[in-house]
Amino acid sequence: MNGYVGKLLYVDLGSGEIRDEPLDPEMARTYVGGSGLAARLAYDIVGDLTDPLGPENPLMVMTGPLVGTAMPSAGRCSFCALAPLTGIWGESNTGGFIGPELRFTGYDGLVITGRSERPVMLAVVDGEASLVDGTGLWGLDAYETQDCARRILDEPRARVACIGKAGENGVKMAAVMNDHGRAAGRTGMGAVMGTKNLKAIALRGGEDVPLADPEGFALVVREILGDLEEDMVATALRMAGTAGYVDMALMYGDMPIGYFQRGEWEPASQLSGVRMAEEYQKRIRACYRCPIACGRETHAPEYDLERVDGPEYESVAALGSLLMVDDLEGVIYAGHLCNVYGIDTISTGCTIALACEMFDRGVLTLEDTGGLAIHYGDVEMIHRLIEMLVHRQGFGDILAEGSVALAERFGVPELAATVNRLEVPMHDPRAFSGMAVTYALSPRGACHMQGDMYGVDTGQGPAVELDIVPGNRFEDSEEKGRIAARQHAWRSLYNAWTLCQFQNPGVERLLRAVNTATGWDLRIDDLLVLGKRLVALKRVLNFKLGLRIEDDRLPGLLLHPLDEGGTEGHVPDVDALLAGAYDELGWDPRSGKPTRSTLDALDLGFVLE
Ligand code: SF4
Repeated sequence: MNGYVGKLLYVDLGSGEIRDEPLDPEMARTYVGGSGLAARLAYDIVGDLTDPLGPENPLMVMTGPLVGTAMPSAGRCSFCALAPLTGIWGESNTGGFIGPELRFTGYDGLVITGRSERPVMLAVVDGEASLVDGTGLWGLDAYETQDCARRILDEPRARVACIGKAGENGVKMAAVMNDHGRAAGRTGMGAVMGTKNLKAIALRGGEDVPLADPEGFALVVREILGDLEEDMVATALRMAGTAGYVDMALMYGDMPIGYFQRGEWEPASQLSGVRMAEEYQKRIRACYRCPIACGRETHAPEYDLERVDGPEYESVAALGSLLMVDDLEGVIYAGHLCNVYGIDTISTGCTIALACEMFDRGVLTLEDTGGLAIHYGDVEMIHRLIEMLVHRQGFGDILAEGSVALAERFGVPELAATVNRLEVPMHDPRAFSGMAVTYALSPRGACHMQGDMYGVDTGQGPAVELDIVPGNRFEDSEEKGRIAARQHAWRSLYNAWTLCQFQNPGVERLLRAVNTATGWDLRIDDLLVLGKRLVALKRVLNFKLGLRIEDDRLPGLLLHPLDEGGTEGHVPDVDALLAGAYDELGWDPRSGKPTRSTLDALDLGFVLE
């Protein structure tokens, strides 16, 4: 197989069995890789009674066909399983170097089932896989674990993905951490590792990824690299990191303030990426073969910290403006705590912000919180709550279950800003109506990585060949819903390729890169078919797990117009947008299911059986 190593590694942590399985070329061509391939494998493994924290839940680590090649910004991989935080399909991708290293070990992906009786580390070194006693790693933080795993294996250059304390403690928003502070943060993949007693996955190898047309591939890579040198978005990301978006996001009303309830808050400008670059930045960081280098390394002298990874935009907003914290150094430290303990910054910030809101409204009392007064803007309290959440201490034990559990427990489910139990990320659908479709239909719950309509409508990487074109950000017509659905399908394909979404070299070049790598003869018309197939497959999988059309909704807080700021007075017309999206995706508007003819057209007829 070209573009693939051609093998998957299956590991049963219960029995200790480890075996290779060939990757079926037809399966790769149909479901591509990353979360697409993982969803197809999951479809056969999971049933409606599969417990996300049960041993039968398969944890899959999957790469795409360009990972580990010379293709720039193609070094991501996906961690997928049923999600502890949401109970539905979970996928979370991460950058750094762990994805390419997996391919260098001679595998396209890992499928891990069962539960070990004792803590273990899965080590794959030069094609040899083994389970190593991980007792000595248990209790270490995510950074210590990565270092210690390398020492245990005597492999100083091994790449390690691991959990911190949060994963060990079954915190529902626990992340998988790799390459220092890179994170597969969303939906609780760290809790899946924790419940399996799998503390770490360490990888080291030297295999090449075979290419169908090495010269053609090298040519298109050179063209992409040449274009990236001139690319404005790439330059901005390199200079100010993703937090460079803060000022623009505030102008659009895209960056949430005070748990999605305020349109303006002047101190938020203190959180800008430019300020971070000037006052706190130490280095810029890049993932494998990425010339964009949006990663930041900062420091926090007030907290005696010489090195912090990040924070990027989502963390700055979730731990800053959402909580009405304008102390940038305090936000940097909060992000550091999340990295060290291995928790998702978005779900953590959202859940604590919900607690602030509930306390302000009198829903939570001092008696409920163990005597803690929880207010917006109190950065020291936020640090304390992160510690309590990770260690499940006192009120932190409730926070560790996420926003929906918190709101339901105190009788205010309508206050949770979530879609399908996943906390809404830091892009407000009142600022970009198309995001309403992205959030409502995302297969993992509210997710900005499943169709970045804020990027489309600000002209960042539109795919005109696929009829994905920028327009009025407030438009909420059926036609806008169709565009958002196409972007959803396009980004689903990106997620299967495991490509970074900050890299948008154009449809024609991407197509050439994939075809010269794999030897396929994909044409432009095939791309949205592929993307829609992946969207439909995850939809069917989620329906198998209990999701219904009634769950395609936005939380009430986001449908409340703000009386100031960049979204003043606007809320998206979700019904009109979704009508267009269902039509574009070929789904029945009454049931929300892909129709029989859609399934047949997408070669998904097998699900009807
Ligand atoms: S743009 Fe940023 S996140 Fe994307 S591959 Fe490059 S360094 Fe990694």
